[in-house]
Amino acid sequence: MNFAQSEIIQKEAMDHIVGGVNSPSRSYKAVGGGAPVVMEKGDGAYLYDVDGNRYIDYLGAYGPIITGHAHPHITDAIKKAAETGVLYGTPTPHEVKFAKMIKEAIPSLDKVRFVNSGTEAVMTTIRVARAYTGRDKILKFAGCYHGHSDLVLVAAGSGPSQLGMPDSAGVPQSIAKEVITVPYNDIEAFRDAIEKWGPEIAAVLTEPIVGNFGIVEPFPGYLEEVKKLTHEAGALLIFDEVITAFRFMYGGAQDLLGVTPDLTALGKIIGGGLPIGAYGGKKEIMEKVAPLGPAYQAGTMAGNPASMLSGIACLEVLQEEGVYEQLDQLGALLEKGILDAANKYNIPVSINRLKGALTLYFTKEKVINYNQAENTDGELFARFFKQILHHGINLAPSKYEAWFITIAHTKQDIEETIIAVERSFEQLAHS
Ligand code: PMP
Repeated sequence: MNFAQSEIIQKEAMDHIVGGVNSPSRSYKAVGGGAPVVMEKGDGAYLYDVDGNRYIDYLGAYGPIITGHAHPHITDAIKKAAETGVLYGTPTPHEVKFAKMIKEAIPSLDKVRFVNSGTEAVMTTIRVARAYTGRDKILKFAGCYHGHSDLVLVAAGSGPSQLGMPDSAGVPQSIAKEVITVPYNDIEAFRDAIEKWGPEIAAVLTEPIVGNFGIVEPFPGYLEEVKKLTHEAGALLIFDEVITAFRFMYGGAQDLLGVTPDLTALGKIIGGGLPIGAYGGKKEIMEKVAPLGPAYQAGTMAGNPASMLSGIACLEVLQEEGVYEQLDQLGALLEKGILDAANKYNIPVSINRLKGALTLYFTKEKVINYNQAENTDGELFARFFKQILHHGINLAPSKYEAWFITIAHTKQDIEETIIAVERSFEQLAHS
């Protein structure tokens, strides 16, 4: 494969955009460097780069793309938005329609508010929880990434951990000390933290199913116990469903697991690929938000018609019969293919998969927490990433991320991917 144009564009990008990228996880720093491939077109399950190479895409733009690229129903909605003006700064009927759709999908949301990113959504749930409880501290779980607001960049996973900066420069110590971090899936550690700090904690914030140190499900009963202890301490439970909502099931992880939080943060899929975030929860808590209450949150672009129409169209596609079953079937096929190939070439791997999302870890262990994810073989992943890219498969350049299958992927795409995996493993085995 030839990447000449990508290299030229990335060289220029380095002169103008910090690090050549608009989000650090897009750089290839975590996989040993090199110019990231520059894409210029998406169509269904495929991305095409500026050199004309075609890739089967499993990055899914880090989660939002579940219908495949340029899905016609979403494209039509975005065209309609463009033709009727993309921003008014007034209420629109689309916001109401979309809020109703989201509430129907996730009944723990009595009231919602649209924002522009997952970062804003989580940041605001924390503010609202603090306003409601009159407390300051937040408890989060090691390795869970919740966007880049100050409070949640403490022991965050995803981007920061790949770059070896668990805490970001510029986050004041005075803020970091308001955040308690405990390992995920360890109820004893959680109980200890609640015993120690319970009365000071405004909220316990978690990804109900982790997406940021790979796909990691909670142990049976774990989240139920977390919820019980959180409420006994007088704190609120916040689910960050920015990745999980509409990914595994239409009703989100909370529907899948049967555990409901007090507040939920949403993002990614609900915009159908356009910028969006949303948060919501119990009426009495949400009524703390301005203009009804004293907790301030606002946004010039919030609820913009383009994101609303694109999001409505995306959810309409996901309401079709059999969507999640299809993702599950393709996921199972891919998982089996990767494991068979690993066995054939004696590559140490383990896979965490839920429906159409999976993480391939280079370790023999089953990964259940961040510590284990951190200890998987990053060097082997980096070599695998570069090999499979050359075989036309686009993954996230990080050992912590998921492969996201979309409804545009076909059995043939999965079979083609398995061949590329086999070839890549063969090369790893012989190098
Ligand atoms: N929460 C989770 C669970 C996420 O995975 C992300 C982004 N990867 C965010 C919040 C932040 O969302 P955004 O990038 O849209 O600000």
